[in-house]
Amino acid sequence: MQRFTGRVAIVTGGASGIGAATAHRLANEGAIVVITDINDGSAVVTQLTDLGAAATYIEHDVVNSEQWKHVVDTTIELFGRLDILVNNAGVGDLLDIEQAELDDWNRTIAIDQTSVFLGMKIAAPHLKASGHGSIINISSIFGISGGFGSSPAYHAAKGALRSLTKNVALLWAQQGIRVNSIHPGFIDTPILDQARGTPIEDMLTEVTPMGRLGRPEEIAAAVAYLASDDASFVTGSELVVDGGYLAR
Ligand code: NAP
Repeated sequence: MQRFTGRVAIVTGGASGIGAATAHRLANEGAIVVITDINDGSAVVTQLTDLGAAATYIEHDVVNSEQWKHVVDTTIELFGRLDILVNNAGVGDLLDIEQAELDDWNRTIAIDQTSVFLGMKIAAPHLKASGHGSIINISSIFGISGGFGSSPAYHAAKGALRSLTKNVALLWAQQGIRVNSIHPGFIDTPILDQARGTPIEDMLTEVTPMGRLGRPEEIAAAVAYLASDDASFVTGSELVVDGGYLAR
């Protein structure tokens, strides 16, 4: 099925993990994919172009509004349109509120929360012009629950994405942009590297009712659904993909 033929997507944080899997999934279904990341995403671009897809990489720090403008302007110059924005770039942290300093808090809020404000604001005119624009904001189960009592900035940022998503979904409900959030559980990507080899790694599978970590492709499938016309009446929603974690 080619749900995205003729459509153009920007995927932030697309060099790794969920973003790379999302780039693959959207491209497999016909999208032209603009991969942005602070790290080099050209390997993902090569994988996609070797498969016959159209893709490009743009270096991009999502906290920088000028770089956001460059990414959106370049996308329009190269491909003429923008239909899908996946706000996926993010960082985790393990400090609790007693350990975290203001700089730690500000960094996480900037990357995980403020970046999404910037991306939606700057891409909006082109997504409206698409007539079927779709924004998918990658939040977390930690945007809905208090988790393990650590990472207060991460929880605050991901929780903010949940309500920010609904807020702009209402503004744009009749203007051609759907906006939804996805709330992954524990997914096997490099973001979990800081927990590997620690008791936290075993605990993550133990607290997941399905008894395993999720795969990046399982989040990419949810992104593809929300990006597609299969979700044409879905806006302001939160899609939990977590192996049952939040059902307990
Ligand atoms: P990942 O493999 O680390 O991918 C995230 C990518 O974003 C990395 O390449 C990362 O670079 C990049 N990035 C970090 N800061 C950036 C910035 N300022 N500008 C542009 N790119 C930046 O992690 P992932 O697991 O795929 O995470 C993707 C999203 O899913 C994140 O928003 C994360 O919070 C969310 N999520 C993940 C899980 C999970 O269990 N994996 C669960 C819930 C939600 P660096 O590697 O240099 O930081």
